Amino acid sequence: MQVSSPLSSDLRPRLDGTLALPGEPGYERSTPWNVAVPMTPAAVVTAAHADDVAHTIRFANDHGLTVLPQATGHGAVHMDLSRTILVHTAALDELQVDAANRRARIGAGVIWQRVLDATAPHGLAPLVGSAPGVGVVGFLTGGGIGPLTRTYGLASDTVLAFEVVTGDGRRLRATPTEHSELFWGLRGGKGTLGIVTAVEIELLPLTEVYGGALFFDGTDASGVLHTWREWTQDLPEHANTSLALLQLPDMPGVPEPLAGRLTVAVRFTSTATQIECEQLLAPMRAAATPIIDTIAPLPYAAIGAVHMDPTDPMPVHETSGLLRELTADAVDALHAVATANSPQFLVELRLMGGALAREPEHASAFCHRDAAYSLLIIGAAVPEIAEAVKGHNAAVQSALAPWLTGGEFPNFGAAVGPARMARVYDEDTRMWLTGLAERHDPKGVLRIGQTVRV
Ligand SMILES: Cc1cc2nc3c(=O)[nH]c(=O)nc-3n(C[C@H](O)[C@H](O)[C@H](O)COP(=O)(O)OP(=O)(O)OC[C@H]3O[C@@H](n4cnc5c(N)ncnc54)[C@H](O)[C@@H]3O)c2cc1C
Repeated sequence: MQVSSPLSSDLRPRLDGTLALPGEPGYERSTPWNVAVPMTPAAVVTAAHADDVAHTIRFANDHGLTVLPQATGHGAVHMDLSRTILVHTAALDELQVDAANRRARIGAGVIWQRVLDATAPHGLAPLVGSAPGVGVVGFLTGGGIGPLTRTYGLASDTVLAFEVVTGDGRRLRATPTEHSELFWGLRGGKGTLGIVTAVEIELLPLTEVYGGALFFDGTDASGVLHTWREWTQDLPEHANTSLALLQLPDMPGVPEPLAGRLTVAVRFTSTATQIECEQLLAPMRAAATPIIDTIAPLPYAAIGAVHMDPTDPMPVHETSGLLRELTADAVDALHAVATANSPQFLVELRLMGGALAREPEHASAFCHRDAAYSLLIIGAAVPEIAEAVKGHNAAVQSALAPWLTGGEFPNFGAAVGPARMARVYDEDTRMWLTGLAERHDPKGVLRIGQTVRV
């Protein structure tokens, strides 16, 4: 069926925002942060408000189309979008801070750095991920793992309410007491149950952390990895850490000592005092001589400095995993496959546990809280090396297979399809999400992207 004419004649006049068909101004907004993923939907709707999202979903119901939300495209995935309307949420940009009640109301188009900057003057803070340039809602619907997860738990456990348009076109508010089934499923279930238009979260009284990274030369990788493994066995909950084997390109923005060579970054974030942190860090600092040491008191609004993730759009290929334990043999296996001649920008292990492992007050669709470490492998998806990056990525996964649980977190290694969903959710969660999706989206309008239907 040719849908471009009803899109123009029926949907466009109903919107206060814009609708762009291929070639029209505004269509280019579909280009995601991960520029390796071509996004070619039937149309791009830039929603001006929640009603635009509802009109678009109802139109899709009537015309046998699907609808996919996108804020920044950090989680873009290869898929056929020829019968999909992409709802771009950037214009849903409201941000209200209620300092007295330690809450914020955030539109679906807002990125975390804006929330960090708006809450810091009040001495308050949201739980964010390593890259504050990602979208608030995409991050929260995937659970949200960040540099303070061991201390305060999953970011989505701080959600108080979602405003959402379900797949049957209804605008609903989901809280622990209103549409509580949606409140359960939107925390972890990504876009399965609806397009979120705004979220309300609890803020923490937090202005500063002790954090940064120790960078070591690649020749010290084995010793640093083994020391980090031992060090992470019994770290207190105030301490959060990850280790990244980095091969950063020699390009503007990359510090000279890190460019064009293998280095090892040990990231650290803590809410404890400087004295406690310095004592705790001593064995790590003694593992080898750091070539850069940025660990110091850090304003929480600058938390992105801990991981120093890239901010500009990039073409990337990534996969993820979860480890049940990190043994000395696992470290040797990782060192053998992911150091010399690795084509990956980053092979990262993050220590989990702590507050993440405890069940929150309100259950959610987020699974695998018991993982000991998360694994993330990211390389450049540029034609010259794309195949080598993919092959090597698979080799890293294979080398670590004896220690992998087979699970993945929703936000890492974005991919679609039943096999991926079986790794992200346990069977019960998949059944519950499927049942709710069938109830709230009987025509499967949202059945595109990282969504669950058994
Ligand atoms: C450099 C980098 C660092 C990252 N660091 C972390 C990290 O530390 N911790 C972590 O947990 N994640 C991390 N991520 C993953 C990131 O949180 C996810 O990719 C997240 O989905 C990004 O959301 P977005 O809206 O920016 O992306 P988009 O690509 O715009 O959206 C991705 C998906 O999120 C869902 N989504 C987006 N908007 C809505 C909406 N309005 N309603 C319902 N669903 C929606 C949909 O499933 C959508 O397909 C990182 C990603 C990158 C690229």
